Amino acid sequence: MTEISYQINATDGRARTGVINTPRGEIRTPAFMPVGTAATVKAMMPESVRQTGADILLGNTYHLMLRPTAERVDRLGGLHKFMNWDRPILTDSGGFQVMSLASLRKLTERGVTFKSHIDGSKHEITPERSMEIQKLLGSDIVMCFDECPALPADRDRIASSMELSMRWAKRSKDAFGDRPGHALFGIQQGGLEEDLRQQSADALRDIGFGGYAIGGLAVGEGQEAMFGCLDYAPEQLPQDKPRYLMGVGKPDDIVGAVARGIDMMDCVLPSRSGRTGQVFTRKGVLNIKNARHMDDPRPLDEDCGCPACQNYSRAYLHHVFRSQEMISSMLLTWHNLHYYQDLMAGMRDAITAGTFEAWQRDFHANRAQGDIDPL
Ligand SMILES: [Zn+2]
Repeated sequence: MTEISYQINATDGRARTGVINTPRGEIRTPAFMPVGTAATVKAMMPESVRQTGADILLGNTYHLMLRPTAERVDRLGGLHKFMNWDRPILTDSGGFQVMSLASLRKLTERGVTFKSHIDGSKHEITPERSMEIQKLLGSDIVMCFDECPALPADRDRIASSMELSMRWAKRSKDAFGDRPGHALFGIQQGGLEEDLRQQSADALRDIGFGGYAIGGLAVGEGQEAMFGCLDYAPEQLPQDKPRYLMGVGKPDDIVGAVARGIDMMDCVLPSRSGRTGQVFTRKGVLNIKNARHMDDPRPLDEDCGCPACQNYSRAYLHHVFRSQEMISSMLLTWHNLHYYQDLMAGMRDAITAGTFEAWQRDFHANRAQGDIDPL
């Protein structure tokens, strides 16, 4: 098997569940991709990430091209070998992070020049260079190079940016070429404008991609506006390919996105929160640094099978967080990633069983209860 293919096994309303088959293994959808920015999911061994149930990781082109550089990763055998993760990897195009992290950016038809946030060195990313970097890294799912305007932006700005991204999508496809076993995903833009989203979807469909991402959301517009866009955007894209919502999100964002036909998501939230003491549970969010946990012998979430919940009390996790011990980030990140993967597995099962609506009611009712009462 040398091609990446997508098989939808069941639908329930607009929600879908299936499998993306790749030479490096199956990706069960809806899928949540932990973010391994600098060739590591911070505070986690890759085998531990796999144990949480993750089928695929996301790597960041912008970070890796600056350090250790894509050429070095290639010389050392590619990103999978370099970071000891042999399952699928998706890399972003670098575009979004250039816009959010780099300084002295200059955007032209050709691409973007910028200065590194690490050492001030000057770099350029074009669609062609982004394809080259992602190929050197060896990623399985490659993203088109695009431009994403911050919202709110006026309609003319969103339209011209989307049109530039569609020209870049064509250049990305041409530069990507024919690479069996690897897929290139196009990225729909168009802000919160339904007709621009449709134009973008049509342009991408004409070029033809292995999957389609919805870009330009989760950039400050709020959940209601995002869901409003997701009420039409996924349906504008081809039905028979994976649909990826980039950079989302909180657990209730993810559930709402899956209900609207999204198959893949990524977010730094579970891993970043693990380092700041924010914990996701079936009963909502808690902060382990609060004094109420100091004497509490109970686990974070009694229904969770992760090592943090199976072997450690809230009191211990509170102590190691307050003491700034490294195991705090390790255990809380593990728990949060495990929670996110349990969430995805629960949705996959409910969609398969045709009970996704009832599952969503339970999900919201459980979260509305809030954390367990203090002892
Ligand atoms: Zn847990």
